[in-house]
Amino acid sequence: MHHTRAAILSVGDELTLGQTLDTNSKWFSEQLRDMGIMPIEHVTVPDDVAAQTAAFARLASIADLIICSGGLGPTLDDLTRQALAAAAHDTLIEDPEALEQVRAWFAGRKYPMPEMNRVQALRPTRGRCIPNAAGTAPGLYIQLNTATKPCDVFCLPGPPSELRPMFEAHVRPHLRPPEGRTVQTRVLHTFGIGESALARLLDTMMSRDHVPMVGTTASGGVVSVRIRYEGPLDAAAARQLLDATEAKVRALAGSYIFGAGDDTLPGAVLAAARGRSHTIGVVESCTGGLLGKLLTDTPGSSDVFAGGFITYSNRLKTLLAGVSPALLESHGAVSREVALAMAEGARERLGTDHALAITGIAGPDGAVPATDARPAKPVGLVYIARASLAAPSEVRRFQMVGDRESVRLWAARSALAMLWRHLAQAPAIKFLREVE
Ligand code: AMP
Ligand code: MG
Repeated sequence: MHHTRAAILSVGDELTLGQTLDTNSKWFSEQLRDMGIMPIEHVTVPDDVAAQTAAFARLASIADLIICSGGLGPTLDDLTRQALAAAAHDTLIEDPEALEQVRAWFAGRKYPMPEMNRVQALRPTRGRCIPNAAGTAPGLYIQLNTATKPCDVFCLPGPPSELRPMFEAHVRPHLRPPEGRTVQTRVLHTFGIGESALARLLDTMMSRDHVPMVGTTASGGVVSVRIRYEGPLDAAAARQLLDATEAKVRALAGSYIFGAGDDTLPGAVLAAARGRSHTIGVVESCTGGLLGKLLTDTPGSSDVFAGGFITYSNRLKTLLAGVSPALLESHGAVSREVALAMAEGARERLGTDHALAITGIAGPDGAVPATDARPAKPVGLVYIARASLAAPSEVRRFQMVGDRESVRLWAARSALAMLWRHLAQAPAIKFLREVE
């Protein structure tokens, strides 16, 4: 039996009530799609056995694979086991092996197993349990038989950290994508160019009938180019096609591309600095630590990222980064001169090879009206400076758009991109949202 059409079922009151965003459906769909199995529907139901049973039954009639997440915990609102048994016209029995695994999980943490967790070892008599190495809830597998065809159902617990390894180890190996179809994708990440400008560069490559398909997605300033082949070619021929298209994309937009696949902008900065044994420090005003957060999101950043200063007040810009009070007085905290002085002062005091400084107005308040001496400083105005031990400093002025969150994210990412371009010796560009 092949898995051609898949349905994704998410279970939980927290999802239907809007308290938790359903990220599992997105993740499952990505995995299936990349294997050539078409996700045809996402369904979300509350912790209600009738609603969930009905969803299993309906989805089994239109799909040949259902991936369900949630509702496998030990409490009374965890009803996936009952709903699955009801949809299969089956009853539940205790699985001794699963019970042993739940007990072992607690034993490994030096707790006795609470009696209520015993229900987690229940499975439909015709189903089987799926081991969970990261938590107590075993998953469940069963085949549902509808009037016309069978449907494989895999149920996994809700937490992404548990279901992802379970999917890899115990679900993916059992999936059978339709034969004679190859699906391959490749993603390249750019920063500094807008989505429509990038689309103009790629031009006819982005037409809907181009093989492979080329599309873009933008998020917080990072614009990613997705190249995707789906069709009858074998894997090697598909790869050649992707190679050729990737080479064309790189030829047209290469100076904006900082990475591919799972690469991130902070990851690219850290890798480029690591390659030269350089260290990085930061001094942040309007981003309040976001730049440091982004850099330290990448595991192993400590050999490159030294740390930095959050200098929200003028007093701390002077005390920590050594910005002269006279400079702050004459140009204001949000200025080219202060951004440069922050970067250069911080770099020296932190003793790093590079320092990035951000000062700006994140909004929604804080815009400074024009005076005789100075032009107005609107919300979204941000200055970003880079200072380096062995290279001239650089400062850019940006007019960001959007709310406080997006101004801050764009500012932090623009700072990273400035350093990345310097380290990678990428050609000079005018950044998106950079103004004279
Ligand atoms: P459960 O297995 O139903 O006990 O789910 C446990 C936890 O997993 C929930 O409280 C959520 O934090 C998380 N979770 C469940 N379903 C989803 C989902 N579809 N997307 C993201 N997180 C989820
Ligand atoms: Mg739940």
